[in-house]
Amino acid sequence: MTSAAVVELRDVTRSFPGPPEVQALKAASLRVESGDYVSIVGPSGSGKSTMLNVLGLLDRPTVGEYLLDGVSTGAMHDDARTALRASVLGFVFQAFHLLPRRTVLENVMLPLLYNGAPRAEREARARAALHRVGLDHRVDFRPDLLSGGERQRVAVARAVVTRPRLLLADEPTGNLDRATTTDIMELFEELNDDGLTVVLITHDQRVADRARRTIRIADGRVEEIS
Ligand code: ADP
Ligand code: MG
Repeated sequence: MTSAAVVELRDVTRSFPGPPEVQALKAASLRVESGDYVSIVGPSGSGKSTMLNVLGLLDRPTVGEYLLDGVSTGAMHDDARTALRASVLGFVFQAFHLLPRRTVLENVMLPLLYNGAPRAEREARARAALHRVGLDHRVDFRPDLLSGGERQRVAVARAVVTRPRLLLADEPTGNLDRATTTDIMELFEELNDDGLTVVLITHDQRVADRARRTIRIADGRVEEIS
C-alpha cells in the first residue's frame, strides 16, 4: 500500500506511568500530507512536545500507531529508528542546540557524518545549506559570535542539509524578537515552497497563522483542525 502522507498518527495515546499517571496524548490522530505546513498550538502542558517527540521518533506511543513516510514505526528496533530519523527528519529547537566549540560550517556538516559521504562532499553540501539560509559570510564563525536569528539560521541549515522529508520545529522562534521571528518564518515558507513538509509547535499566534493548517491540542486531545 502506498500513501502520500508523510505523517500518520492513528489513535495515539502516550501515558507516563507516574504516579500519578499522566496521559499526555489521548487517542490523537493526525495526517500530514507531503508538502504541507502544519502549526500545532495549545496551552503549556497540553501535549505538544510529547506529540513532536513521537513524530520525531524520540518517543513511542503507548497505544496506537505511527507511520512516518509510509513506514510503520511501532515494531522497529531503536537502531532502525535512529537510521530512519537521520535520513527522513530534520529538527529545529527553541534553544538552537549548536556545538559551541565548532564553527558554523562544522556544525552544519555534522549530520552528514552518518551517511558516509566523503569530507569534500559534506563540506560542499554544508556550504550550500548555509548559502540557502543567507549565511555565506558566517561559515568560519563560532556560534557564540552570532545573533539569535543567525544561530537559528545555522540550526535550520543543519536540519535541512540531509535533505529531509519532514522538518520538525519545537518553538523555533521562542527565543527571537519580532523582526527576527518574521525572518525565520519567511525562511520556513521558502523551504516549504521548495517542497519540504513542515510541522511546527508555537505559542505565537502570528507564527501559527503563517502555516497552511493549524492544529490545536488541549489536555492531550487534538481539538480542532483549521
Ligand atoms: P507541552 O509541550 O504542550 O507544554 P508536554 O508534551 O511537554 O506539553 O507535556 C504534556 C503533559 O505530559 C504534561 O502534563 C507533562 O507534565 C507530562 N509529561 C511530559 N513528559 C513527561 C515525562 N517524561 N514524564 C512524566 N510526565 C511527562
Ligand atoms: Mg513543550
